[in-house]
Amino acid sequence: MMSVSQIRLRKPRRASLYQSVKLTLSQHIKAGVVMNGEMQKAHQLPNHCVYLLPSLSRGLDDQYEKLRRTLILSRSKRLSLADIAKLISNPNTIHWGLSYLFPIDAYYRYADLYFISEQTPTQSSRVSLATERDRFGYPIANVNWVISEDDLASVSKFNTLLLNSFPSSSYEVTDEKGSDQISETMYAAAHFMGTARMSAGIESGVVDANLKVWDVENLYVCDGSVIPVAGNANPSLTIAALAIRLADHLAGVH
Ligand SMILES: Cc1cc2nc3c(=O)[nH]c(=O)nc-3n(C[C@H](O)[C@H](O)[C@H](O)COP(=O)(O)OP(=O)(O)OC[C@H]3O[C@@H](n4cnc5c(N)ncnc54)[C@H](O)[C@@H]3O)c2cc1C
Repeated sequence: MMSVSQIRLRKPRRASLYQSVKLTLSQHIKAGVVMNGEMQKAHQLPNHCVYLLPSLSRGLDDQYEKLRRTLILSRSKRLSLADIAKLISNPNTIHWGLSYLFPIDAYYRYADLYFISEQTPTQSSRVSLATERDRFGYPIANVNWVISEDDLASVSKFNTLLLNSFPSSSYEVTDEKGSDQISETMYAAAHFMGTARMSAGIESGVVDANLKVWDVENLYVCDGSVIPVAGNANPSLTIAALAIRLADHLAGVH
């Protein structure tokens, strides 16, 4: 996840363009831009999704994004009082808070193109057991997350395709990250998937289509680890659906 580029709209927008559509005061749906199958095939691109985040300031602000991400995703929330003050006083936080709470959207001209990307699975991205142990005496997980050159190139490519698809009369690009910057600012969405992937054969995965471990009888895995590729969508509903399906399968078996 990360903001890759920023555009300035020639005409200010009032609605929360794509980012969040309000159904009622308490119901929001998040809407993003994805490629259709034809385009994905033609450009050999995985499933990227882009949200247009309204912004009140010119240029991408990585420091602000980092603080926001720490607040939302980090369990330890290592934020100093100065960091919290910086976050709260940022016009984008105030804009976001107000438009979330009240049925009015402030006008805005800038939009950050915020990516949630699919990564190509690679053997070097893996989870192993560390020698260090937790307070219960179990070895802790050693997570080695690798972003490949191909992943960076595919994000850059989709960003360019997207920018070229907007009518040039309606916007100008105000900021755009190169591959190095993307790699430095990309962060995990806390959607851990893979490592016990579902596969069509024993040679390419750990569990079969019914979530049974290929070469062990009566052992099933059901969690995010069976999802073969970490796509751009949030995984919890898929994991819950897999659990219901497995329960039905086991009820039929026994
Ligand atoms: C901050 C954050 C925000 C997220 N937001 C979203 C979101 O908005 N939408 C979404 O779809 N997903 C979201 N996710 C991801 C989602 O939470 C996970 O993908 C999902 O919970 C994974 O489900 P799971 O069953 O694979 O693992 P988990 O939900 O992690 O379940 C594993 C369980 O095993 C237990 N456990 C671990 N070790 C042992 C042991 N030795 N013995 C017994 N029990 C053990 C753990 O306590 C835990 O209850 C978010 C994740 C984080 C961290």
